[in-house]
Amino acid sequence: MTLSRRDLLKGTALAAGGTFVSALGFDLKPAYAQSRELKISGAREYKTVCPYCAVGCGTIAYVHGSGGLNTTRSVIHVEGDPDSPINGGTLCPKGASQMQLAMSPRLEHTPKYRAAGSTEWEDVDWEWAMSWFARKYKDSRDATFVERDAQGRRVNRCEGIGWVGSATVTNEDAYLITKTQRALGIVFMDHQARI
Ligand code: SF4
Repeated sequence: MTLSRRDLLKGTALAAGGTFVSALGFDLKPAYAQSRELKISGAREYKTVCPYCAVGCGTIAYVHGSGGLNTTRSVIHVEGDPDSPINGGTLCPKGASQMQLAMSPRLEHTPKYRAAGSTEWEDVDWEWAMSWFARKYKDSRDATFVERDAQGRRVNRCEGIGWVGSATVTNEDAYLITKTQRALGIVFMDHQARI
């Protein structure tokens, strides 16, 4: 088949315009159908929130692999959540690349602990980290809890702990965190995102 430059351009233009039978004589319909099917075929959808900034855009992450024997769970695609009232399915360029964060070989998978005076970080497990955190929290609260102010008024507040939420904390999470912290007398609280 002899193909001139004009024929090639004509065929490309027709294909781009949605004509599946191109001037080259190929039926592109199966190819289009196949590519659409493969992209997130068999993946599970996880609704989440972009971790990068205070806008808090809703995101859908598509994950392949069950995590079972001989499988590896991996994020294969991330896109904006069209149901999110914040971003309506859109993502900025930084948010659109968040899959790179999830799949980075440099991603840390365990908590890190650096003892006072040490220059080295060490891996610890979550059980150890949460026990350490609970102990420090309790000790700090006991040491800085104020029952009455200088005028003798009962205030029952803890002035030695501050709490800062992250961008991926939803409104519902933030509500529960606020309730818990207020119940413990924490008065210094803020949160990165309003979502
Ligand atoms: S997608 Fe962009 S604007 Fe939205 S939360 Fe992420 S970084 Fe912020």
